Amino acid sequence: MMRRVLRTAIVTGGVLVVLVSVFYVFRTPLFLKAIELAGAPPLAAQEAVALGAQEVWAGDFYTVERLDAQTFAISEPRYFRDVYSYLIVGDREALLIDSGSPLRDISPIVAQLTDKPVSVIATHLHFDHVGNHTRFAQVLMPDLSYLRARTHDGKFVPDALEHLGQFEGYDISGWDVGGWWSVGGDLDLGGRSLTLLTTPGHTPDSISIWDETSKRLFMGDYAGDGEIYAFLPNSSLGAYLETTERLLAELPPETLLFAAHGGAETRAAPSVGMRNLVDLRDGLLAMRDDRLAGTGFWPRAYPINRNTYVLADWTGPGGSSWDFD
Ligand SMILES: [Zn+2]
Repeated sequence: MMRRVLRTAIVTGGVLVVLVSVFYVFRTPLFLKAIELAGAPPLAAQEAVALGAQEVWAGDFYTVERLDAQTFAISEPRYFRDVYSYLIVGDREALLIDSGSPLRDISPIVAQLTDKPVSVIATHLHFDHVGNHTRFAQVLMPDLSYLRARTHDGKFVPDALEHLGQFEGYDISGWDVGGWWSVGGDLDLGGRSLTLLTTPGHTPDSISIWDETSKRLFMGDYAGDGEIYAFLPNSSLGAYLETTERLLAELPPETLLFAAHGGAETRAAPSVGMRNLVDLRDGLLAMRDDRLAGTGFWPRAYPINRNTYVLADWTGPGGSSWDFD
């Protein structure tokens, strides 16, 4: 009798350990699947969007905010992700930084803003930043060897975890690569030159575009005001820390950093100052050294200042994801 109870307890305990281990190993795909099953919220009504002071509708989906005579923020305020893409116009050509979500076609909006030939580059490969890549004549990519190695017959196709579109019901379609932009290299648009910086952390392939003349950095989902997504399958807190320290050393203190998602109460192209990078660096160091407490189940939220949280996976503080090489 005792032996049978003992055996049942051991078997039950073993099954539990296996179940918990499987859950732990597959937590990210499981949580992402839960997000997929929950579904994306419906588009907000156009009338429900309170535009920012500098913002105008361009059609019934996109808005445009003019940052200066030749720089535009194009956003998608009705979509819950409130994506921002940026159009930089030179005397000879233009660059679109991110092509937005796949919900609509951004190219007619871009054509209204410039008659120059437009190249596009994504700050990273997530579906809400490459959604209109195929609608532009020239797609540029950062010249990273592992991206080149995965380009076949001139075509690059992101993999499922790089793209993540499946979780909102979007198929992956790749694009023809029109040019490789070297890391640290300049792109001359005519009277205006931009530099490509690698800024891994949110994803390994993340880049930012530096406009030295206007002291603006277009940094995609690297950081911003609000939530910093450092919990995704290929996010790395170690890469975040390395990138943040490098940007703090290299960028002038008056730099404005533009993010790729809105969310502030008053609508405007989302930008923060270098002070936010100092907070991010200090917060990451505190996380690494277990001096900062997180809240929530998954992802865990770590407050780095009044407005901003780093969202991290369970392996965050003290865990393997600090490794970076
Ligand atoms: Zn992203």
